[in-house]
Amino acid sequence: MELRKDPITRSWVITGDLPDTQRQAEPFCKFCPESPKQPQVISTMASVNYGPWSARAVVHPDPLYHVEGDPGRRGVGLYDIMRAVGAHEVLVENARHDRQLWMATDAEIEQFLLLCAARIQDLKNDHRFKYVSVFKDQGALAGQEFDHPTSQIVATTFVPRRVLYELRAAREHYAHKERCVFCDILVQEMQARDRIIEVRGDFVACCPYAPRVPYETWILPTTHSAHFERTATSKPGALRDFAALLRRTLNRIRSVTESFHLVLHTAPNTMRKTKILNYWRTIDDDYHWHIEIVPILTSKAKSYTFKEVYYTPVTSESAAARLREAPTEYNSLGSTTWAR
Ligand SMILES: [Zn+2]
Ligand SMILES: [Zn+2]
Ligand SMILES: [Zn+2]
Repeated sequence: MELRKDPITRSWVITGDLPDTQRQAEPFCKFCPESPKQPQVISTMASVNYGPWSARAVVHPDPLYHVEGDPGRRGVGLYDIMRAVGAHEVLVENARHDRQLWMATDAEIEQFLLLCAARIQDLKNDHRFKYVSVFKDQGALAGQEFDHPTSQIVATTFVPRRVLYELRAAREHYAHKERCVFCDILVQEMQARDRIIEVRGDFVACCPYAPRVPYETWILPTTHSAHFERTATSKPGALRDFAALLRRTLNRIRSVTESFHLVLHTAPNTMRKTKILNYWRTIDDDYHWHIEIVPILTSKAKSYTFKEVYYTPVTSESAAARLREAPTEYNSLGSTTWAR
């Protein structure tokens, strides 16, 4: 695997020829606590319910990035290339194989979120890494990799393209107005209310004004904060409302589709300063962490995948209205109930 930079869009891609051999299916789940073949454990969160632990980070069994060595960034003619140096871990969300995030208790989800924060902080201590991504691909349409409830974390020697766009836009907005663009959006959305799904404590779930896909949903803290991991450790229980809102929002999304991508956008590694990306002087004030949930609807998948312009046949006002009415609680019968 190697990283190549597109000289036109300036985005890095990871590429390599994978051998055709299929990964051998194992007769057991390697992420379950009782697995006979335990993965290499990086960090474990204490149990809050049952099982030996509540959530834990393990080395990805088939990593795209490798943690050893120097990226060796160099030029090949006009192109840029570097080795796929990075960290690639699986974040096991729950010890139980059949307990997805939207079924878990708020305390369990909180433990998982604290694990995310701890891993982000730890990986940012490695000065080679400019950015740490946490994401979840749920459902066959989203390219889900494992049956066990898991997310993944990747630390990279570059800032991914979409985050870079956000950082540049946030910095520009701040340079003109001395205000955070996300805070400005929140003020306007809280007044209009028509794209708000739910407010819970210090957090809000809403549909963005210009969605990429039907039912795209963001969750943001209403109090300004650029770094997820700093919010997480700001006070005990800081993420409890966020855990509840995430669980309730995922249940709402699941009333529309079982497949979605979820990604956490937080500030890049500010310990890793470079001259080219001069966004560190105001970053604590101009950037604002958030979660983006991008649902995948079978029938609509084709209509936007290969288009240059995102096309969304449901406005975010209609999407928010439907999601507001959707069920938020999961019941043991295996379906989401409409009770509050
Ligand atoms: Zn399992
Ligand atoms: Zn803000
Ligand atoms: Zn974002």
